[in-house]
Amino acid sequence: MTLFGTEEIIPCSSDAELAGAELRARTTQEVDALAALVGEETEKLLQRVLKLVNLPRLSYADDHDLREVLRELRYCVQKDGRGYKVRLRRRTRVDRPEGIGRLPRPRWVKEATEAGMCGLCGDTYRAGDAIGRAQRGPKVAAYYVQMGWLCWHCLVMRRQQPTRRDVLLRFFHGLFAHDGVGLNGHECRVLLEWLTLDPVLTSSKPWTVDPLKNTLLRLHTSTVEGKPVTWLSPQTTHTIIAVLREPASVAHLTAEETTVLSAFAQHLAEWETNPESVPHSRYGTGWRYRQRALELTSHPTVLSRLGGPFHLFQCKVTALGRLRDPDES
Ligand SMILES: [Zn+2]
Repeated sequence: MTLFGTEEIIPCSSDAELAGAELRARTTQEVDALAALVGEETEKLLQRVLKLVNLPRLSYADDHDLREVLRELRYCVQKDGRGYKVRLRRRTRVDRPEGIGRLPRPRWVKEATEAGMCGLCGDTYRAGDAIGRAQRGPKVAAYYVQMGWLCWHCLVMRRQQPTRRDVLLRFFHGLFAHDGVGLNGHECRVLLEWLTLDPVLTSSKPWTVDPLKNTLLRLHTSTVEGKPVTWLSPQTTHTIIAVLREPASVAHLTAEETTVLSAFAQHLAEWETNPESVPHSRYGTGWRYRQRALELTSHPTVLSRLGGPFHLFQCKVTALGRLRDPDES
């Protein structure tokens, strides 16, 4: 007997709609089903699953994890259990860049069982593509929303080979959390090139009101010296976004970059004007307010659908300015 009666295997396409207690119950059922099929104790099979997801208990797994676990278990059942031990073994080798582009070791990497959407950039990935879950950030449990499955670029490469969109996403989640924004030398180079694409930008209105000359110097220094982190204040970040929205900048962008930039600007304006009348008495004026405004927006975007704020990781440095390994606690 299954949760909803007598059905045995539900098509994977319905898994995307499963969530919460129902998803958890189905996952447990599928562990039982595979254990019975292969003649292994349920507890032992559960241990395999825990090693796969790289968590001490299944209760620590979130819905993003459980959907992928459920698909793996169903795949094994549909194959009559053939090769299930290999299928449920986690890939542990992850080659990551060294230096200021290095992100923390992912918690779990695997090949996608079916197509999906990256939890950070919103790009689609195909079945078979390498994807992964990031480790929880230090404040995530109490403060941030956890990101979903990430494409390989967002998981491993985004700080080493940043794109303009990566910089925008860093700005968005920085302002969302109101932490200011920290860029490494590679990201500073991308931003510097963008801001100097067209000399006309220096005479644009936002630049004239809040000149970015010193910011350009800092970005240049960081680029040349490969600095781990250069902080930009929320005010400077707002000015930069306004400049990047000038026609002389947008003319150089791809459709995807323009989409993210427009979505970002829309949400910044909504946070400013509160068109959905989010009550400050209940949500305050910080990230909870911004999160609620994003949920209620009457014009959903890729950014509002993905939510946040997300912990995008900052390089840590010692008192002497030396870069610390991101996996050090
Ligand atoms: Zn991505």
